[in-house]
This record gives sequence, structure tokens and C-alpha cells, in this order.
Amino acid sequence: MELMYASTRDANEKVTASQAILKGLANDGGLFVPTELPKLDVSVEELAKMSYQETAYVVMKQFLTDFTEEELKNCINAAYDSKFDTEEIAPLVSADGAYYLELFHGSTIAFKDMALSILPHLLITAARKNQVKNDIVILTATSGDTGKAALAGFADVKGTKIIVFYPKNGVSPIQEKQMVTQKGDNTFVVGINGNFDQAQTGVKQMFSDADLAETMNAAGYQFSSANSINIGRLVPQIVYYVYAYAKLYANGVIAKDEKINVVVPTGNFGNILAAFYAKNMGIPIAKLICASNENKVLYDFFTTGTYDRNREFILTNSPSMDILISSNLERLIYRIAGNDAKKNADFMKELTTTGKYEITAEMKEKLADFYGNYTSEEETAKVIKDLYDKTGYVIDTHTAVASGVYAKYKKDTNDTKTKTVIASTASPFKFTRSVMDAIDEKYDSMSDFELVDELSKIANVKVPKAIEEIRTAPVLHDTVCEVNEMQDVVKKFLNIK
Ligand SMILES: *Cc1c(COP(=O)(O)O)cnc(C)c1O
Repeated sequence: MELMYASTRDANEKVTASQAILKGLANDGGLFVPTELPKLDVSVEELAKMSYQETAYVVMKQFLTDFTEEELKNCINAAYDSKFDTEEIAPLVSADGAYYLELFHGSTIAFKDMALSILPHLLITAARKNQVKNDIVILTATSGDTGKAALAGFADVKGTKIIVFYPKNGVSPIQEKQMVTQKGDNTFVVGINGNFDQAQTGVKQMFSDADLAETMNAAGYQFSSANSINIGRLVPQIVYYVYAYAKLYANGVIAKDEKINVVVPTGNFGNILAAFYAKNMGIPIAKLICASNENKVLYDFFTTGTYDRNREFILTNSPSMDILISSNLERLIYRIAGNDAKKNADFMKELTTTGKYEITAEMKEKLADFYGNYTSEEETAKVIKDLYDKTGYVIDTHTAVASGVYAKYKKDTNDTKTKTVIASTASPFKFTRSVMDAIDEKYDSMSDFELVDELSKIANVKVPKAIEEIRTAPVLHDTVCEVNEMQDVVKKFLNIK
């Protein structure tokens, strides 16, 4: 049976999986959601014997029902190959009573690779299925990691162009260097004088601009999105939660049907939503623990039922979570509103006009699966140092937010027994300065690449290829624009008027 996708803002807009991937965002500005969440059709015993690629197939086939087995397997095998520096793709590391699910072994050393190494293949397959003649223009706003992972995924992919907007002063030096050194004639990287929310809003506006779409079409182009608003990003992210559960079972850490907790350092709410989908597929997950940095809009939402982005935007040392408008939360709001597009659309309109909305008591009750908390910058740094001192294991700033929130969760709830997986979303090498400063302030005087070598020494981990590559790479992109110039920049790059 074919699974259809509906817009979270218009009950009448229904498309197939491949169409949802192609479009990225629905016409009305809503997000595509499956009309029902499918169940896994394999047992944990079977899953326990599967490779990452095999797991990916049994999970993704339930969602992408208009892809043939061959198409889907081709996409999976092209994505999860030697671009990853470990055969396991997503290894679990046990440290200090938790299981760190390392999602950063792909080509750009952040968890975005888990989805963005397969998205180009899904998208090209979807274009072929739907007889699309236009070139696909991937338009992306990034808080640092999506940009590079999307660039790496789409560089030199025939029939595509990719344009990435990032906040000029809102990413780490290594993140910026990774992006502006990107090769490939079809790639374009732009810094904006603004923050991530402004970049994301500008991109969303271009998506829902009918005039622009027409101009693009006349020139042989159409937009799609590599942001986590694209369902083609979300579905591959469900896989590693299923995989992690099966590995814990295979390793004898948990018994059959034993529940685990999952902690996710959260920004746009994509990664944790994928964990929620995994739970709905049948994976025994007790709590979904949503970890925020000082931009704690989600913590406030889970505690009060009011989502309020009217607050100062704080630049932290976990920049990929510096977000006040968590786009994917809309998919959850739609669901707890009883899949009511009208009701959800009203909330989203309030968010646009007043910057906030309050859900009903009935909706709030449906959030019982979630626990939210946050860490301050100081607490995050202390988590990195304490874990290193105690175990020698070095985690990045985002993962440290999750680890710190897990400690708060245990204190708050006394739930210290449930085995817990912490999504480790970036390599510490991507945020070397923040990580090393946390461990010892003596490192402050070293250069970025001296720090890389020092980190390699103290953590006893080889410098990842992604970092070696940018040591000497020339800067190839230096465009910077104002927020209100984003559309002009896109037109210029595509050479359209
Ligand atoms: C993107 C990102 C996050 C946030 O993930 P969301 O899916 O946006 O919630 C957390 N950590 C790192 C390192 C990231 O790159």
C-alpha cells in the first residue's frame, strides 16, 4: 500500500514520498508528514543481525513506498560506503554510564552526513520517477553543519545546483573554512549579515514565492530543500535509532522489549523527531530527552506549553543549536493537534505574526513522551572537562549539552536505571577551540590547527580526513550579503532576471 504525505497546513495537499522529497516544502508553506506512521515489519532478533545498510532498507522502505527495492538499495549503498571512516557507520561508545551514538563518522564529521549523504540520491531518483526536466536547485540555510554536509553531498551531482546561506558571524572557524573551500562548479556559498533564523526565514520565503517559482521554471530550474524540513532528510535519520536499539540488544546490554531513553541535542527539532518516529515504528523508547543550549525555547515550550521566540538570540559554543524557530516542531504540533491542518496552520500563523503560540491542555498531555531541559555555557564546558578527566573520552559542545541535560534528567526524575543513548552529533574536531578551552584554558593561545593536533594527542584519536583536507585548501567562496539581498544573490548565481 502506498503511503501518502500530507501538508501540515492543508489537508487537501497530498503527494507521494518521491514528490514530497522533490518539493521539500508544501505549497502552503507547510511541511510534509506521512498520513500515518508505519510500523517496522521485522523483529529485534532480525534487526540485531543486520548491517547499517540492511537496517536502513527495512526502515526506509516503510516510508518511501513509491521507491522500488532496487532504487532504494542503490541509494543506500551509494550513501553509506567508504565515505564513512568506520564500517559500523554509527558506532556506540559506552562512557560514564551512557551510550554515545557517534553520528559523526561521515565526510563532514557531523550527524548531518547521516541524511545528507543519501538525500542527493533520493532526490535524483525522485526526479527521474516524476519525469522532472528542470535542474534542481538546492536552497539551504545552515547553522553550520547542514551547509557543508549538503555541499559535500551535492557537489558535482549532475542536474543539481546548491546554494548555501550561513550566518557570517554565527559558525565556528572550522565550519566556515569547511564551507568556503567547497569545490564543485554547481556549488555556491554565501555568508549573510544576520543569524540562522533570518537565513532560514529568507529561504522559506523563496520557497513559497510563486513569482520566483515561475521565473525559475522558465529558466529550467526548480527549488528543493536539503534542510530537515525535507522528509528525505528525516526518514534516513530514523534508521540510526533503530540500529542503536538493535545493537544494544545484540550486545546483551538490554533484554528483549526493554525500554531505553534517548537524549538528543536539539536545534531545528529534526533529529529528535526522527527518534519519535522510531518510537512510533515500534522501538521501545521510554523518554525522548530534548536538550537545548541557552536558546532554550524548546525547554520553555515543554514546561509551559507556550512556544515563544520573542527573546534574545544567543550565540553559543554549540552554534548548530542556536535556533529560536525549530521548524520540525511543526510536525509534532500537527500530530498532537490530532492531525488537524487548520488548527496547526493557525498556530503557525500566530508564530509568524506575534512570535508565539500556546497549545491546549489536551495537546500538552500528548507530550508525555518528551522531557526538556537545557545547559548554560558554563555547564556545557564543565561536562566536557569532567567526562574527559573521568574517562579520557572527548565529546563536542553539542553532545555535551545532551550529556549535561541527561545528568539533570536523572537528578529530576531519579530514573537512573533505564539504559540511555545520547546522540553524539559532531566530532570534537569540528569545535576544537571550544572543546579544548573547556578542558584547559592553557590551550587558548594556540592556533586552530595546533589545537587540532593537540586534541588528537590528548584524546588518542586520529585527525579526521575532513580536517586534514581544509588545512591548506584555498577559499573559493567569499560572497557576503544582507538578509534582504538573498533573493538577488540566488538570481545572480542562476543567471536569471
Ligand atoms: C544540526 C545539529 C544539531 C541539531 O539538530 P536538529 O535536527 O536541528 O535538532 C545538533 N548538533 C549538531 C552538531 C548539529 O549539526
